[in-house]
Amino acid sequence: MASLYFHIPFCKQRCAYCDFYTEVAPQFIDIYIDTMIAELYARRDYLLQSETVSSVYFGGGTPSLLRTQHFEKIFYAVNQIFTIDKNAEITFEANPDDLTADYLSEIKNLPFNRVSIGIQSFSDRFLRAVNRRHSAKQAIDAVQFAKDYGFENISVDLIFGLPGQTLKDWTAELKMAFSLDIQHISAYGLTYEDGTPLWKSRMLGNVAPTNEQTMNQMYLRLLQMAENNGFEHYEISNFAQQGFRSQHNCGYWKNSKYLGIGAAAHSFDRVSRQWNVASIKKYIENVKGNKTFFEKEILTEKDKYNEYVMLALRTAEGVDCEYINKHFGREFSDYFFKNIQKFILTEKIKTAENRCFLTPKGILISNAIISEMMISD
Ligand code: SF4
Repeated sequence: MASLYFHIPFCKQRCAYCDFYTEVAPQFIDIYIDTMIAELYARRDYLLQSETVSSVYFGGGTPSLLRTQHFEKIFYAVNQIFTIDKNAEITFEANPDDLTADYLSEIKNLPFNRVSIGIQSFSDRFLRAVNRRHSAKQAIDAVQFAKDYGFENISVDLIFGLPGQTLKDWTAELKMAFSLDIQHISAYGLTYEDGTPLWKSRMLGNVAPTNEQTMNQMYLRLLQMAENNGFEHYEISNFAQQGFRSQHNCGYWKNSKYLGIGAAAHSFDRVSRQWNVASIKKYIENVKGNKTFFEKEILTEKDKYNEYVMLALRTAEGVDCEYINKHFGREFSDYFFKNIQKFILTEKIKTAENRCFLTPKGILISNAIISEMMISD
């Protein structure tokens, strides 16, 4: 099984915390779609003919800025080239203010069966603080409209630790999210990435990050409320009702192959990783001009080990010790089993059925544990 990813690097306005590659450049959307289709045909052999596509994902940026005819062109090309599994998960990311009844009515005949809505907060105050372009009401309406138009697999993105947000505020956000009868939640702690407007505000002393203790309390509240509401915690930042894990993201975490199309999109075939140029203009020029539009690295055994450990430790299933022994040889498995001991002794890692996974205590310092378990140069 393999996945397809389409990167739509357009936004109507930039959010204050975002460091993804996107541009406010709607004038390029039409030509960009045609270029993605050209790339898709040019790279049709990246996935083997025998491989069935089990998930298709439109991420961004803001895929909900595309119109029906854009998606139709892409799906036409996809169906010409690949075999899509009849149960494939087909997702698009949407901003709440785009997800109106009119828009959903326009796209209702497209093959999407999952929508991921970038809500981030249900409070106008916090949305404004990070320059999100929608309102709390639009967020709630978007979920309802998606349901009205038949979506039975709805995911919502939330951010905790927004400027000025307290534990009580975050609890209210979670209450609202769980009251919406959705199937999936992705929740991330706010980070102040270098160079973003939010980072600049912090440098100027206009905003202060939420302290670590409160961030931890917010995360633990999320774990508790997810459990109380019957959501399984299947990856550090992801929670799903039974049967609604994101198949696309699970593919990434399980080392499946994926073909990423579009500016700044990444691809992976288990042997190498490649990433397209992060510039809409250069991407269009180079694809159309038959020039190189990506960089590529061949993965060493160490890269593969690091990648496996980093991704597997983030998931509820954790690291498969037998897989480490079988696939990475003596040197890497010795390193893994020697270094994991201290985390087991301090109850940050639990073991069961020949697997190692993070405990709630371990999740709070997951970045530090993962970086210690990886092998540096
Ligand atoms: S809409 Fe999403 S991709 Fe665009 S700036 Fe905001 S967070 Fe970044």
